[in-house]
Amino acid sequence: MSIFSHHAYDKHEQVAFYQDAKSGLKAIIAVHNTNLGPSLGGCRMWPYADDGEALEDVLRLSRGMTYKSAMAGLKLGGGKSVIIGDPRKEKTPELLRAMGEFINTLGGRYITAEDSGTSVADMKVIGETTEFVSGLIEGSETGGDPSPSTAYGVFVGLKATAKHRWGRDDLKGLKVSIQGVGNVGFRLAKLLKEAGAEIFVTDIFQDNIDRAVNELGATAVGSDEIFDLDVDLFAPCAMGAILNDDTIARLKVGAIAGAANNQLAEERHAQVLREKGILYAPDYVINAGGIIDVYYQQQGNYDPAQVQEHIERIADTMQEIFQRAEETGETTAHVADRIAEERFGHEDAVKKTDSAAA
Ligand code: NAD
Repeated sequence: MSIFSHHAYDKHEQVAFYQDAKSGLKAIIAVHNTNLGPSLGGCRMWPYADDGEALEDVLRLSRGMTYKSAMAGLKLGGGKSVIIGDPRKEKTPELLRAMGEFINTLGGRYITAEDSGTSVADMKVIGETTEFVSGLIEGSETGGDPSPSTAYGVFVGLKATAKHRWGRDDLKGLKVSIQGVGNVGFRLAKLLKEAGAEIFVTDIFQDNIDRAVNELGATAVGSDEIFDLDVDLFAPCAMGAILNDDTIARLKVGAIAGAANNQLAEERHAQVLREKGILYAPDYVINAGGIIDVYYQQQGNYDPAQVQEHIERIADTMQEIFQRAEETGETTAHVADRIAEERFGHEDAVKKTDSAAA
């Protein structure tokens, strides 16, 4: 298995591997870039088929965090960790404490938080052996869960998308389809409902669908039917790679704005969307509410009003991206990448100038 020449390596600063025989922990931490600050990103636990799959995942995810935090205007770099194992069967307090010890070996260059397969409760256990853990705030309404902030950020970004696409300031009567009404999707559906939108939902779990239908008056649709609906906007809030040749050909929407990470199956699909006249809200920009929340939790003086104000700036960033894409004829995804690179690359230049002067 190659590391430095791995196709997803992309100038990572550091990749660390760790094994603890006693607890059975096998984990990787990837630090992509720390130009703007220490790297922060979730700890994912997943039963990867092999080490190569785990490495690919952690490299891709940590790179994504650099871009996400830079775009969100946070003094954070990008990093991520993965624990190889089934969270339902192999997660023990010993294993989580060993993960904390692993995180300590990086001396604060990587700060962890919850992700797929780990919870706020797990972060508390990891926090027994390391201080470099976030998403633990006590006494807040959400107890450290970043999902409500993610949903609010998507809502704000969705409004900016509708404003650019249709020139409208409100969402009354806008037809929105939501794929996945879990932690983020359901909360987004609620905000949309309150704003007067008409909601269509799907999920692979019937109880999740029933909750949206019964509590919000949403219309339930089949999990495949969601791509053929005659609606205005599609909000993917389930899984990645959902915008591909098959689904894009079927979509009749004018815009896409949702929470899911890595929505484009391949980079070229941004261009396919553009040619079809579908305005795409880049995923890591619109779903940054969670990392913004976690950042303020990490700072130690969590002020909900300040967090909300920061999340609302997602709308300004979306506007900047849409405008630049229109002016240059580039895709919104490409414009977002360029702005993010300017931000964390620019800081690099500043750092070098500072150290040269010192
Ligand atoms: P979740 O697991 O709570 O919700 C996902 C929902 O999608 C579940 O209800 C699941 O049953 C459903 N689903 C899965 N496959 C589906 C399919 N094929 N068709 C329809 N429904 C399907 O996860 P979440 O925390 O709500 O996150 C949703 C997405 O947003 C994920 O891609 C996640 O990576 C991304 N995201 C989440 C956060 C956060 O703060 N939770 C932050 C940034 C990005």
